[in-house]
Amino acid sequence: MLFDTHVHLNARQFDEDREEVIKRAHEAGVEYMVVVGFDRETIPLAIEIAESHDNIYAAVGWHPVDAIDMEESDLDWIKELSAHPKVVAIGEMGLDYHWDKSPVDVQKEVFRKQIELAKKVQMPIIIHNREATQDIVDILKEENAGEVGGIMHCYSGSVEIARECIEMNFYISLGGPVTFKNAKKPKEVAEAIDLDHLLVETDCPFLAPHPNRGTRNEPAYVKLVAEQVAELKGISLEEVGQTTTRNAFKLFKLDQ
Ligand SMILES: [Zn+2]
Ligand SMILES: [Zn+2]
Repeated sequence: MLFDTHVHLNARQFDEDREEVIKRAHEAGVEYMVVVGFDRETIPLAIEIAESHDNIYAAVGWHPVDAIDMEESDLDWIKELSAHPKVVAIGEMGLDYHWDKSPVDVQKEVFRKQIELAKKVQMPIIIHNREATQDIVDILKEENAGEVGGIMHCYSGSVEIARECIEMNFYISLGGPVTFKNAKKPKEVAEAIDLDHLLVETDCPFLAPHPNRGTRNEPAYVKLVAEQVAELKGISLEEVGQTTTRNAFKLFKLDQ
């Protein structure tokens, strides 16, 4: 049993064979997924996919790379959608200093507004972080994001920062990079952080795990991530699957 907590099945890379990809995921034991929508194009399709499949849920938010494009009406729209029965989180949101499409101050403002919204509707948040760790941690603290908690998605930071995030009520989600031979930090995190605070994800179609690195990623490959975590912890794949699925259920409030 596996829960892929971050998929972009709404990406155009899946337009040709979306249903087959979902079928392959089920065959690989991936029973649950959250499709993440992050702009005007990807949000409606995330909702549509979640509506038409059992055990597939949606998250709605605004990506930091496109922060400059977000208008007040988009925020109202996200708030409205948060009441949809298949929407389980707000995001992805955060900061991305790799791309310079949106100025840092705009990114920060859009990030803060979404945290505020999530607190208003009492839903967990999904954090996207690229080269912005310290600013992210500072904003989460300043905005008291621990009130709702959430996910540090595709986490690639240190064990120390991971512990800080866990204290703020966040789960650490590991993706394809934990399987890369040169990825020291994600492997250290997988070893050091208790399984009760970990999740697994693909972030497909991006970041395919070894040995599929460089190809289109898909939810079935989350098994490779879970296997790597199991190996690093010296426990079974079943235990990783069960515990991380249980964690996801608790976080997304699916067990109530
Ligand atoms: Zn992301
Ligand atoms: Zn993503």
